[in-house]
Amino acid sequence: MTSSVLVLNSGSSSVKYSVVEPDSGATVADGIVERIGDSADVPDHGAALDVVFAALAEDGHHLDALGLVAVGHRVVHGGPDLYRPTAVDDDLIARLKELAPLAPLHNPPAILGIEVARKALPDLPHIAVFDTAFFHDLPAAAATYAIDSEIAERWHIRRYGFHGTSHQYVSEQAAEFLGVPAASLRQIVLHLGNGASASAIVGGRPVETSMGLTPMEGLVMGTRSGDVDPGILTYLFREAGMSVEDIETMLNRRSGVRGLGGEIDFRVLHQRIAAGEAAAQLAYDVYIHRLRKYIGAYLAVLGGADVITFTAGVGENDALVRRDALSGLGAFGIEIDEHLNDSPGRAARRISPEGAPTTVLVVPTNEELAIARACAGVLGGGHGDR
Ligand code: ADP
Repeated sequence: MTSSVLVLNSGSSSVKYSVVEPDSGATVADGIVERIGDSADVPDHGAALDVVFAALAEDGHHLDALGLVAVGHRVVHGGPDLYRPTAVDDDLIARLKELAPLAPLHNPPAILGIEVARKALPDLPHIAVFDTAFFHDLPAAAATYAIDSEIAERWHIRRYGFHGTSHQYVSEQAAEFLGVPAASLRQIVLHLGNGASASAIVGGRPVETSMGLTPMEGLVMGTRSGDVDPGILTYLFREAGMSVEDIETMLNRRSGVRGLGGEIDFRVLHQRIAAGEAAAQLAYDVYIHRLRKYIGAYLAVLGGADVITFTAGVGENDALVRRDALSGLGAFGIEIDEHLNDSPGRAARRISPEGAPTTVLVVPTNEELAIARACAGVLGGGHGDR
């Protein structure tokens, strides 16, 4: 039987699951259980896991026949010390609970997901894979906020970066696609999904990324603001009578493209722009403007890019966003071939003209496979190398 890994990504109201074969890279089954806590059917994460098992069985995948060798858990925040894929034990759960204040929206549901999965599958190793891992060794100049250093140290405030599993996977795939070692490349990776982040990578190691202490910094996202003047927070707190929770909810859930244009899905946003909705146009313009600012900044950080890669829901599917993000950058060796850019595809593909100084790629991300491989690395006695 081929060995496989059950990968779980537990959010506050949903659990995404995949059964992945780390060796072949094949996804045997995947799906999502949504609206946890919303209905009597799925009151909590334990019930959600039962739904996962039932869905697998319905598709003919009985647990015993899947050849599961591990359960891999995506954990958003590893804090200052956790970054290698780590086998879960009671001590690790306790450490994750201590870290929860650093990622109040993301880590508590991941811990719940781990706890219920350990109960349901006690005989399998459970392995935590951290979204911050790839960026653990960011250069100090990129990782450090210019704030009172004693306070920063006391409260573990640094730029951690997120989506690391995706940035690492996609940058490795880009090198493989080009048939050159990652060690020889200066790369910019643009992970544009509902959450969005950019990274600058030299020789396979990240030197910059747009997210910080939390996944709120950086690019404009589906519902998150990305960069704002921190003065806005203190102003709202002091003058508008908003609580810390109100401000956090606004920045996380009612900002970004939805906050400006009333819509999170770019397919619908484009329709609204075509229908002449000024708010939708402004949302798009702010999104593109921020993205271009980051691309420009990373070109300066890197001294030019050999590869720029788009990934995740928007990056993989939205040709207009790709075109507008990189238009007018010919002077920097960056060009897009309109025909290649407009041709849809599922696989990794080049969208810059042949021979252009900077190769522009679209590479589908596969965080589940990367997590499954990290788990296999732990089981194999290595540390998974991430
Ligand atoms: P998440 O961050 O939740 O994992 P994804 O990477 O799946 O998100 O991206 C989801 C987003 O991708 C959607 O909200 C939508 O804006 C965008 N998207 C998906 N398909 C398309 C498409 N065909 N064209 C444009 N945008 C798309």
